[in-house]
Amino acid sequence: KVESKEIVDKWVKGTCRFCGTGCGVYVGVKDGKVVAIKGNPEAKTNFGFLCVKGFLAYKCMYHPDRLKYPMIRQKDGKFKRVSWDEALDYVAKKFKYFHKKYGKDSVAYYGSGQCTTEESYTFNKLWKGGFRSNMVEGNPRLCMASAVGGYITTFGSDEPVGSYADIENAKCIFLVGSNTSECHPIIFRRIMRHKLRNPDVKIIVCEPRKTNTAKIADLWLPVDPGTDLAVFHSMAREIIKNNWHDKKFIDAHTRITDGKNVYSFDKYVEFVEQFKPEVVEKLTRCPAENIRKAAKWFATSGATMTLWTMGLNQRTRGVWANNLIHNLHLITGNICKPGADSFSLTGQPNACGGVRETGSLCHLLPGTKPVKDKKWRTHVEKVWGLKPGTIDPKPGFHTMKMFDSLGGENDPNKPIKAMLTSTTNPAQSLPNLNRYIKGMKDAFLVVLDIFPTKTTQLADVVLPAAFLYEKGGVYGCSERRSQLTEKAVNPPGEAKPDIWIAAQIAKRMGFEKLIPWNMDDSMKANEMAWTDYITVTKDSDHSLWGATYDRLKKEKAGIQWPCPYPGHPGTYKRYVRGMDPMFEHEEFKRFFGKKIPDDAKIYFYMDKKGEGRANIWLRPYKGPAEVPDAEYPFYLTTGRVIAHWHTGTMTMRIPEIARSYPYAYIEIHPDDARKYNIFEGDLVEVISRRGKAILPARITKNSLPGVLFVPWFDQEISRMINFVCNDAVDPGSKEPEFKIAAVKIRKYSGS
Ligand code: SF4
Repeated sequence: KVESKEIVDKWVKGTCRFCGTGCGVYVGVKDGKVVAIKGNPEAKTNFGFLCVKGFLAYKCMYHPDRLKYPMIRQKDGKFKRVSWDEALDYVAKKFKYFHKKYGKDSVAYYGSGQCTTEESYTFNKLWKGGFRSNMVEGNPRLCMASAVGGYITTFGSDEPVGSYADIENAKCIFLVGSNTSECHPIIFRRIMRHKLRNPDVKIIVCEPRKTNTAKIADLWLPVDPGTDLAVFHSMAREIIKNNWHDKKFIDAHTRITDGKNVYSFDKYVEFVEQFKPEVVEKLTRCPAENIRKAAKWFATSGATMTLWTMGLNQRTRGVWANNLIHNLHLITGNICKPGADSFSLTGQPNACGGVRETGSLCHLLPGTKPVKDKKWRTHVEKVWGLKPGTIDPKPGFHTMKMFDSLGGENDPNKPIKAMLTSTTNPAQSLPNLNRYIKGMKDAFLVVLDIFPTKTTQLADVVLPAAFLYEKGGVYGCSERRSQLTEKAVNPPGEAKPDIWIAAQIAKRMGFEKLIPWNMDDSMKANEMAWTDYITVTKDSDHSLWGATYDRLKKEKAGIQWPCPYPGHPGTYKRYVRGMDPMFEHEEFKRFFGKKIPDDAKIYFYMDKKGEGRANIWLRPYKGPAEVPDAEYPFYLTTGRVIAHWHTGTMTMRIPEIARSYPYAYIEIHPDDARKYNIFEGDLVEVISRRGKAILPARITKNSLPGVLFVPWFDQEISRMINFVCNDAVDPGSKEPEFKIAAVKIRKYSGS
């Protein structure tokens, strides 16, 4: 018999700090320090399992590089440690100066899908309600904006219809532009477990690379980057040709549109006819036979779930790609029932909860309604206690435009003179970095973070922030689930929670009444901010009104919105009577201006006329912004690896992880390597029209010939692939095309 001895003093409930899966954890504390993390077996996201990042997250908290004191850059270019009062007074003085001299929109906020909901909400409220400026953006613009655009233009409301639990009910799982095994390992575990228990379940993967995810698929649809729109249309054509579509569902719940007119279904049939599998094979390199098989499995399984992430979103046609996936679900009726779902996986832990739902983007307000919506503006002003007309109806600048407009006082072409960034590292994570670094350097830049980064190197003021387990707060994951992390330990040195920093700036700028949660107890401040926030959402289709802080403290697995009244259990499946509480919610009916018909079983929020139909889109085929040519003959695509989180700020400071993946590399197909006389480990220069990087070669058949892959976690300047990536944006979502660039390569001579 082995005596079990508890290694910790207490276990504190929380969520993982890293990806959008939202795994529930318990944080182990001993002698005032986090010493262990274990999975929460009652969490409905992960049932107790964690991947390597979640399990080892705490190890970076005590790295000697932690920022512990506020610092101001001096005239000689060096940072000097200062007191909090000195730093905050200086920031407020500079912000006031810029507001006065250059106007309310000259100071921008750039946040993150890694801030807590309370933090994002607080900064958003300070900017939009206090400064009256919509110059508010966040890094979810770089990863999820196309998914938002897809959901809103198809269904009328952002975020997925169903839940992760659909995985275990699906008979066919379609993974598109998602290396799930590395980027969402616990979701992948659920998929694999389901497949092992039910071998008849079909898994289809559509990806340019034969990733570890594609390797376990029953069917791989290899495509050249950015060409998959044609594959989706071709699948639709095959489905209709074979009469596998659901005519009854289409007639009852959808309408065909190109955005200008509404058409009959015949028009759609006529439209997709041009996408014959043989024609599409030539365009995409995806075998016609695979397209036919995928169409059959998708339409006839009985319950198909599609999951996707950046491969679909980070594109100049990201919104359209999202629409076309929804099209497949709508024409086959694979939606609004168990196992049938069109589900966008989120990259960051709180991109959904913290940024999309709190409306912390330049065109939105809390409750995910546009700033242009007068009715909603008036509602938000009322809850915030502002005079009517305070909130500016004009959207601010989207991320790429914001950074392009950032510069010094002596540059009249750059209207944004100052920026505050929180929990993000744009000097490494923006595409086409050469274009944006000067602006960050010249402007007055205030950076809140836990470690030195490429962005702190450009800052004028660095404010040391607390790690999630040192402050607590709510994260909302991919499946509309809000989960509360309790504060476990104190931050090191003088580091402070972002919410305290926001409130201190508000106080110094004269907006104390707007942000009254100016207190040292971060959990109390969080609770005040959360309560303020859910009051705003009360009457929206994104209602969290019933998800009070008290409830979030008690719930072991969090709550899925809509949760429109106290005691409501949360929503597994939206748009379905009996599952979506919004059907029964009087305020919601008032908000939509018309009562949802009593006999409606499914009602999409798209159509405020009262028909509740979702849009099936006629989207023409358009390829990526850049395609290979004689000078730049390769496609370059980028992504994450299982061990690292984004720019490696935290994971490169976890010794076990840093040892396992010490640097980035370039994946090259053996046929291409042979042509260029490149061998495993040789240094290779990869060059685009915008910049270059030098990386060791990894020769592998994972990618199609002509397609190169580089992960983007590496902080070494010469290996930072974002100097090479394209910053062309989707015209609808304004999300950049990180995933596709035309490049050339040469063996690096070292000269
Ligand atoms: Fe954390 Fe994502 Fe890993 Fe879960 S799958 S432990 S949320 S990084």
